[in-house]
Amino acid sequence: MILRRAGQKVLLIEKGRHPRFAIGESSTPLANLLLEEIARDADLPNLHKMTEWGRWQKHLPELPCGLKRGFSFYKHEVGASLQPHDRSTQLLVAASPNDSLGDTHWYRPAVDEYLVNEAISHGVHYRSDTTITKIKYNNESWEMELESQNQNHQVQARFIVDASGPQGFMSQVLSIPPSQPANTQKTQALFAHFTKVPRLEDSDSTFDSSPPPFPVDDAAVHHIFEGGWIWVLRFNNGVTSVGVVMEDDAANSIGLKSREIGWQKLLNNYPSLKVLLGTAQRVTDWHYVPQVAWKVETVVGENWAMLPSAAGFIDPMLSTGFPLTLLGIQRLARILTETQTRELRQQSLKGYEAVTLLEIDQTADLIGALYSNLKNFENFCNLTLLYFAAASFAETVGRLGHPERAQGFLRSSDPQFGPKAREICRLARLEPRVDIRQRIVELIAPFDVAGLTNQRANNWFPVVIGDLVNNAEKTGSTREEVISMLQRSGVPI
Ligand SMILES: Cc1cc2nc3c(=O)[nH]c(=O)nc-3n(C[C@H](O)[C@H](O)[C@H](O)COP(=O)(O)OP(=O)(O)OC[C@H]3O[C@@H](n4cnc5c(N)ncnc54)[C@H](O)[C@@H]3O)c2cc1C
Repeated sequence: MILRRAGQKVLLIEKGRHPRFAIGESSTPLANLLLEEIARDADLPNLHKMTEWGRWQKHLPELPCGLKRGFSFYKHEVGASLQPHDRSTQLLVAASPNDSLGDTHWYRPAVDEYLVNEAISHGVHYRSDTTITKIKYNNESWEMELESQNQNHQVQARFIVDASGPQGFMSQVLSIPPSQPANTQKTQALFAHFTKVPRLEDSDSTFDSSPPPFPVDDAAVHHIFEGGWIWVLRFNNGVTSVGVVMEDDAANSIGLKSREIGWQKLLNNYPSLKVLLGTAQRVTDWHYVPQVAWKVETVVGENWAMLPSAAGFIDPMLSTGFPLTLLGIQRLARILTETQTRELRQQSLKGYEAVTLLEIDQTADLIGALYSNLKNFENFCNLTLLYFAAASFAETVGRLGHPERAQGFLRSSDPQFGPKAREICRLARLEPRVDIRQRIVELIAPFDVAGLTNQRANNWFPVVIGDLVNNAEKTGSTREEVISMLQRSGVPI
């Protein structure tokens, strides 16, 4: 759509057909801000409607999605029930001050179809049920043979954007092998859509004993246990996405790849998860992924580039997929619409490749450290602050009109922060018993705009508008500029 707006001819090739199941459902404030920027810069108002829960409900009520007010984490022990009042076994981090400004879970069968129809309405040529059977690079252009419903078509393209996801098209054509990213654990995933998933807050009366910073179920719910974690993402059509990622040893010990049997064995170990998920009704097939984390080393070439989602993925934890992909879309679109000469374009593509791989690596280090600390929930919570501090800072400076101050995803391009954060992650991975809190607090304090270093928070982090205003100078802006940004964003002050 961005390229069409810039007057270019675009062909979108899909080997399947919409609507179809797809995984990757949970947005974040940063993902929504990036989508807002794309919608504004390319004048795509129908994308803007998807950037907040309130806007979505007002303008696209027929398009299913879920309300996401933040991230909820609960720590489970084998054979023990969850103690909802025990704050040391939970972490609640709000991402929005109210429902209207909340983030969303995308019900991908409908959302992806909506996006494709939008693309078509902008003049994108779309071919579904289509396979690329031959491809050749000739005279600075790609010649492709397409097969669709037993018919062959020849097309020529000046540039290929590989948006085909894990181990996708260019990886296969150019034999670019995926590998396990450094510092990550080998993991497997199993997921499906369910109905009749009760809300956590209804499952135990002590859940509402004191009001949490947001309704704990209107969130990306992460149930953490030794060896893995389960996500629960609710949509507003009665469907809930539920899935698990487990380290290989733990997954193999219950036979996760046998799907239903493995799933039931897992639930049998954790009484509260059994209560919560044991009676849910599965409404899709199980999807099993034998290797969740992967990455390639070549992301671009002569007149082609992969989106970040075709270049690597680490883990669903913390919903990093959308922002990484949207950052990639922004960067690639700029290269394809702004660079004039072949040399400049190739140079820019190399820069795009470097930053894409750096961000995947920074994410890998953090996720690797989190997995090493699934047993040590205190360290786990402290490590998440590296993510929450960088993400809330990036959102704030982005909304203030200075996205460059974010220094890339997870501040990976910050020459100070990037390496220091990775060093902390290394320590946490190799020495899970070392207390890393003080190092993390010192590292994030200079740009913590969300009160994450507050000792008294006791694992509940609401959105406090005063935190943003009082920390204005950390963003390089004045209090007045922050207040006016908040007013523009519709935040009640
Ligand atoms: C288990 C899991 C959970 C995740 N959860 C989250 C989350 O909660 N939040 C988040 O931000 N990210 C998450 N992600 C990441 C997220 O899935 C991706 O960032 C996102 O789906 C990328 O979208 P995409 O359209 O680029 O790729 P995909 O969603 O993978 O779509 C690729 C499309 O290309 C088509 N295709 C593939 N090969 C070809 C071919 N050869 N020719 C033509 N078409 C082809 C496919 O049919 C498909 O329609 C998760 C990933 C996994 C594995």
